[in-house]
Amino acid sequence: KVRVRFAPSPTGPLHIGGVRTALFNYLFAKKHNGDFVLRIEDTDQNRYVEGAEDYIVKSLNWCGIPFDEGPGKNEKFGPYRQSERKHLYKQYADQLIAEGKAYYAFDTSEELDAHRKQHEAEGKTFIYNWHNREKGRLVNSLVLSEEETQAKIDAGDDYVVRFKSPQDETLQLKDIIRGDISIDTNILDDKILFKSDGMPTYHLANIVDDHLMEITHVIRGEEWLPSLALHKLLYDAFGWEAPEFAHLPLILKPTGKGKLSKRDGDKLGFPVFPLAWTDPKTNEVSRGYKEDGYFAEAVVNFLAFLGWNPGTEQEIFSLEQLVSDFDLARVNKAGARFDPDKTKWFNHHYMQQQLDLELATEFQAKNILLKDIDVNYIALVVGLIKERATFVSDFWELSHFFFVSPTDYDEKASKKALKEGTDEILNKVIELVNSTEDFTVENLQTNIKGWITDNDIGFGKVMMPLRLALVGALQGPDVFDIMYMIGKAETAKRIEALVK
Ligand code: GLU
Repeated sequence: KVRVRFAPSPTGPLHIGGVRTALFNYLFAKKHNGDFVLRIEDTDQNRYVEGAEDYIVKSLNWCGIPFDEGPGKNEKFGPYRQSERKHLYKQYADQLIAEGKAYYAFDTSEELDAHRKQHEAEGKTFIYNWHNREKGRLVNSLVLSEEETQAKIDAGDDYVVRFKSPQDETLQLKDIIRGDISIDTNILDDKILFKSDGMPTYHLANIVDDHLMEITHVIRGEEWLPSLALHKLLYDAFGWEAPEFAHLPLILKPTGKGKLSKRDGDKLGFPVFPLAWTDPKTNEVSRGYKEDGYFAEAVVNFLAFLGWNPGTEQEIFSLEQLVSDFDLARVNKAGARFDPDKTKWFNHHYMQQQLDLELATEFQAKNILLKDIDVNYIALVVGLIKERATFVSDFWELSHFFFVSPTDYDEKASKKALKEGTDEILNKVIELVNSTEDFTVENLQTNIKGWITDNDIGFGKVMMPLRLALVGALQGPDVFDIMYMIGKAETAKRIEALVK
């Protein structure tokens, strides 16, 4: 059975790159009737940020991609927070040491710095592996005797456990997106697996948990590709079957140059987080897609296209359609350029799919001036204007004249619409309005358009000042719709106000 995991570290809010990783895991899991697991990788206590885990869970739920297993939910492989699995990892580090596949190292950071500098001075790169580890310059259990090693541990010296990476081997790695990759083991560092504070590093905890949680496919960001060799070596060292790997392409800035960063959103004026986030230390608020008025469907749709495409012209995909069409084989290696205008295009599309009544409820909740207006009337207005809106926050600007009479008239529009003879024309329109018994769009059209044609007046001469009277500008939906919506008395009143 397919089992995938999203394994964020709770070091702050998830940015869209993280949500994209979660989404691709979700799509892959659902497509194969598998499980989507959330695991919180919080072994680095120094980088832990209050509220981040809660934010991650809320973000996935808002996007409509909830996890099947994770903290507090279906805990059959739990716990799902690495800090609560601490007791598990030491035995695995010990096992590798006992088998000669890992070793204790006691070098201080000052000593390591000195080695690094000395290598640099000689024009070489310092790599902590077979090049150096057994030459007696480094302090580890490969050069110390068993007694010396134990004495240091007993004396409470700080140590780390390092993985003993192989010498002169070529590793053949496979990535679903990138194909075959070969790596010369001589460039690998002996990475730290475990520290004397009792905590595993990311590498050890990640491999042990993926194994224990029976993960079949690891789908994660490209930044983890350099760790793939070590991870494969660890699986081999334990004698475990490795999952399959897929490393997703980077998300690039709108310019296409460089990686999109968490800072870019505020700098360039678009959200990079699914939900707004208040930094617990600085109280600084970062914008979120939800609060900026995006529909979750639009966010999911544009995220899916950051690295994947269906191979056809189709751009609009519901989550269900994504589940059925998604294929890791169609994910690109090349970085995916993030286009904030395209996210708006998607939102405009999904706006048209929403129920007018639901949009009206939201619109009303956000505008005090609409407090006492019948929500069904607001829904009719929404139906007339949403074609021009990207966000609910655009509604007021597009529709205020359905609710309040214009208080002033746009200057340019007035110049264009008001000519000699306009008052006369408008007075006639008032008459026509008042004499339209059954005040419907159709009747208004028949009466007013009929009068225009019969008297050969020219549509613009009537419709422009009429629109100006109703709206205060030369914009807005159909004039007859507006008249019908605001009603006979209000229509006459607004035209009179312009004539005076
Ligand atoms: N904890 C890692 C992260 O924050 C997980 C990487 C992985 O998926 O292996 O991205």
